[in-house]
Order: sequence, then C-alpha cells, then structure tokens
Amino acid sequence: MNHSETKKKAPASRLIPEPRSAFINQCQRCGTCCQKGGPALHKEDAPLIEQGAILTKNLFTLRKGEMAVDNVRGYAAPLEAEIIKIKGQGRSWACCFYDPIAHTCGIYDARPVECRVLACWNTADIERMYAKDRLKRQDLLGTISGLWEVVQAHEQRCAYRDIEKLAARLKEGAHADARAELNEMVAYDRHLRSLTVEKSGIDPAMLDFLFGRPLSETLPGYSFLQPPPVRPL
Ligand code: SF4
Repeated sequence: MNHSETKKKAPASRLIPEPRSAFINQCQRCGTCCQKGGPALHKEDAPLIEQGAILTKNLFTLRKGEMAVDNVRGYAAPLEAEIIKIKGQGRSWACCFYDPIAHTCGIYDARPVECRVLACWNTADIERMYAKDRLKRQDLLGTISGLWEVVQAHEQRCAYRDIEKLAARLKEGAHADARAELNEMVAYDRHLRSLTVEKSGIDPAMLDFLFGRPLSETLPGYSFLQPPPVRPL
C-alpha cells in the first residue's frame, strides 16, 4: 500500500538533498531524496527483509574496499566496510521503490530507517546515524549453511583490497602478471555467479546482493585506477 492511498505524508527521504528553500521545514514530496538513490540498510531494517517486505532481489551490496561516494563527507573513497543498499531503477540511481509519476514510495509503511530519519531541511539526525549499525550480508545469510560459505569464498577470491594491490603492480609496470590475475578474478566472479544460479536455482536478480556488483561492471576494462563511483547513502 502506498501513502497516497493511506493519505500519509510524503515518502520519507534519504540521502542529503539540497533543500529547495531555506524556509522548508517539512517534506514537500519533491522526491529528490528518493531519486538520488535507495537507502543503505541498518540492522534494525533486518526484519523488513526477514518478513518479506523487501526482497533480497531488491538489494545490492557494495563490498568492502569498493569505491563509493560518501555523501555526508562529500568525497569518493574505498569503503571501510560493506554496505547493503536498495537497488536503483535500471541505469538510474532512483530507488526502485519510488514511483516518479505518483511521487510515492511503494513500501512506505515498511521503508527503511534512513528513509524515516532523513529530513532534507535538517540533516542532523541522518548524519548521526548513517554510518552506525549497518546491516551486513552475514546478518542475513550467516545461518544459511552452504550459501554463506560460497559468499565468503567469493569475498576471499575477489577482494577489492587485492584488486588495489594488483592496480599498484600495474602502475609499477608488472602488466602481464597483474593483468593475468585480474582476468582470473573476473572469470571466477562470472563463473561463480552462473554456477550459483544453476546449482541453487536462485533468482539471478539476487546475485548483486550475494556477491556485490559483477567485477566486469565495476572494473570495466580494468579502468579501476579511476573506478566509477557509486553512492553509499
Ligand atoms: S524506500 Fe521509499 S522512501 Fe526510501 S528511498 Fe525508496 S522510495 Fe524513497
């Protein structure tokens, strides 16, 4: 049920949008926050997934070490810890639950905590909590024997800290070796994804949650020396 049906006020915001006016002190339903990207999830959002209000196919993981834009600090940097976020709409960052025509949230009654907390006219509350108690894949998958081990194996073989080291070797001129290792890593990432779908029968849309975005997307042409930034918040 969306909030136009319930006559509740606007979809809660996320991110840190510019207030359109210094005089705004309540949500104007402009949708700017929802269009800038889905929220990062926190531990208190876990029941929304466990109870099926948000499906794992609606999520993706930004893995530790992956480059991302920190909207609060205002710069791109490798992530110190993984972040689980709600997906965008196709190639747009707009939250997949946002309806741009009706300006409504498709999960308003079950929206994540960041959406409930953010007020674009006063960002103090979101700034206080945005980096605390973030949800991790282990919180949701740690007890699923078999699947969790596969996720861990992928993390070990495709860690961004290792990619960073390979990037440094490339810079130093060790091109052949470093590129061969990167090729192997990208091939493993691709193979594990298709194998997981084949063996477990899971919806392929879940893969970006389980393993993060494919390396073939985050390292296009291995241009990871200047990786495409993403928004963690
Ligand atoms: S979950 Fe709802 S309120 Fe939150 S960003 Fe998405 S559309 Fe907006």
